[in-house]
Amino acid sequence: MEKRDYLVRGMVGEGRARVFAVRTTDIVREAQRRHGLYPVPSAALGRVLTIGTILGAMLKGEESVTIQIRGDGPLRSIVATANSKGQVRGYVGNPHVHLPLNSKGKLAVGEAVGAGTLFVIRDLGLKETYQGAVPLQTGEIGDDFAYYFASSEQTPSAVMLGVLVDPNNVPHAAGGVVIQLLPGAQDDEVFISKLESAVGSSPPISSLFAMDKTPEMILDEMFADFDLKIIDRMPVEFACDCSRERFEAGLITLGLDELQELLDAGENVETECQFCRSTYYFSIEELQSMIEQIRSDRSDSQ
Ligand SMILES: [Zn+2]
Repeated sequence: MEKRDYLVRGMVGEGRARVFAVRTTDIVREAQRRHGLYPVPSAALGRVLTIGTILGAMLKGEESVTIQIRGDGPLRSIVATANSKGQVRGYVGNPHVHLPLNSKGKLAVGEAVGAGTLFVIRDLGLKETYQGAVPLQTGEIGDDFAYYFASSEQTPSAVMLGVLVDPNNVPHAAGGVVIQLLPGAQDDEVFISKLESAVGSSPPISSLFAMDKTPEMILDEMFADFDLKIIDRMPVEFACDCSRERFEAGLITLGLDELQELLDAGENVETECQFCRSTYYFSIEELQSMIEQIRSDRSDSQ
């Protein structure tokens, strides 16, 4: 099937607020397939991957962002990283959580996450990082990010994230919309209440994507009275930058003793990337040559 995930960025109300809308159906399907996610973990990770693409779109150049959610629910944790090029990847602590639908008849994401903390770590390059941390509000992800933007970044925001999962476990539709008030509009009560009613009267975001509406169509309908201007659009995808070379470098940093132990065990070593579940094998001969490399590096430096 043709992949059609992409993100659009725009402005509403003559520059008083910025908006993002993204379709992430293919991203969430890919995550489900790679991690073998059950429906509740699909919805939880899917919402985090969706907001990840939007946080990524707020970055530039080589910057990246990591989201960590640590909760006391059965899901344990959700981790995702995204960059400014539309690439996102992630995983959950327990991909096989199964819970009954919540009291609203929805996938019980908040219950699976539990109480805990949301961390957002921006890597701005040159070893400069910025970290924000807020207590989880409901564990439903959208509410937690609205709180994060307001309290940690002083940017009042509405965050709508949705993932619809079919009874056969396959994510059917996913996407999100974020609206952020820009400085200058934050005391404009008329504008804010108009925005709130536009957002509040919108159907659930996943149902809009399930009807095959594009991000532009969703913004057009939501902000029909707001002079919407689309600024740009970019493709987004589930992508991991792991490689055999990186895992080999990781094995070498284990050091001589640990590598010798692996070698003595007499079996090939299998490593797995937790973000994308790619596996990389290293043979006994390769372990032997890593050990030799460490030894020769040592004798060179003496
Ligand atoms: Zn990977």
